[in-house]
Amino acid sequence: MAGKRDYYEVLGLKKGAGADEIKKAYRKLAKENHPDLHPGDKACEERFKEINEAYEVLSDDDKRAKYDQYGHAAFDPNAGFGGGFTGGFGDFGDLGDIFSSFFGGGFGGFGGTRSNPNAPRRGDDLRTTVSISFEEAAFGCRKDVFVGRVEKCTDCGGSGCAPGTTPEVCPDCKGSGTVRTTQRTPFGMAQSTSPCQKCRGTGRIIHQPCKTCRGMGKIRRQHKLTVDIPAGIDDGQAIPVYGKGNDGVNGGSAGDLIVSVIVRPHARFEREGTSVLLMQDISFAQAALGAEIEVPTLDGSVKLNIPEGTQTGTTFRMRGKGIPYLRGNGRGDQFVTVNVKVPKGLSSAQKEQLRQFAAAMGESVSSGGGIFGRKKK
Ligand code: ZN
Repeated sequence: MAGKRDYYEVLGLKKGAGADEIKKAYRKLAKENHPDLHPGDKACEERFKEINEAYEVLSDDDKRAKYDQYGHAAFDPNAGFGGGFTGGFGDFGDLGDIFSSFFGGGFGGFGGTRSNPNAPRRGDDLRTTVSISFEEAAFGCRKDVFVGRVEKCTDCGGSGCAPGTTPEVCPDCKGSGTVRTTQRTPFGMAQSTSPCQKCRGTGRIIHQPCKTCRGMGKIRRQHKLTVDIPAGIDDGQAIPVYGKGNDGVNGGSAGDLIVSVIVRPHARFEREGTSVLLMQDISFAQAALGAEIEVPTLDGSVKLNIPEGTQTGTTFRMRGKGIPYLRGNGRGDQFVTVNVKVPKGLSSAQKEQLRQFAAAMGESVSSGGGIFGRKKK
């Protein structure tokens, strides 16, 4: 992945930046580089994508930790993890160490604290993030996510043994995975338990390992899942997909997949709960005389009546034009705050009309004659 910029650099941050700092930098840059504000600008579109990609990684504690440790390789499908592999465990070469650390150590591990290696255990939860647009968050959407699940090997049914063979119950620990040793001490007999050395705490000995999973009984497979994202979801909220985490072992239930949602900023709208906030410029004449203007909403352009004598900073409420409620029916409102623009670059005829207007109001204004104008300052 040569030429890929550092994610911190993309967001203009230093390595160690706080979560708030990351979010702030992301929102600012994503707004500035929003493709809706620069139609047809390919470079801008690329930057916007880069900014979103950087945020998807740095806003997720898990992914950020991997990125900090391994850089872009942590998310390179060709590097063997996080990406598209479907094979067994032996194919990773040098990455084996990295790989095993991704499993949180619990994989075929020693299980020193585990009481019974044959007891059902629930599979681990998996986490992923999905980035959606402002509108998708408002109205809901379906998104494909890719997850590497640890699953029971179907070739051996999870036993880890080659077809037609069965595991032997470990003769040393009798299948318990732990051995008890009794020692004579000056204070009497002391008993202690430790993981069985012969079967490495599994309670079983596999003489002919399954070729598919290399005796692990499980393999990691990449899956594409379609997640329904409900209307009204907000940035930072998560959707649980039950049973789509790692498979359990010994008949234990599967874990869940937790999908965290990143809502990309909108070019014009801000969101506060179920309210949509919009800043809208109007002219001095529209503010003074009143006007019917068109403003963007989530449902497209809608007419808004500006009453006569509207001051800059006035906020208008448009009922039911906000974000749908996540639970229950109904929608929030849109709030439009107007900003009265002072006209610039007037023609001399327009200036003359304004001067007449000022005179009628009894106001003193610059007469426009260069020397007078400057003298008054
Ligand atoms: Zn197998």
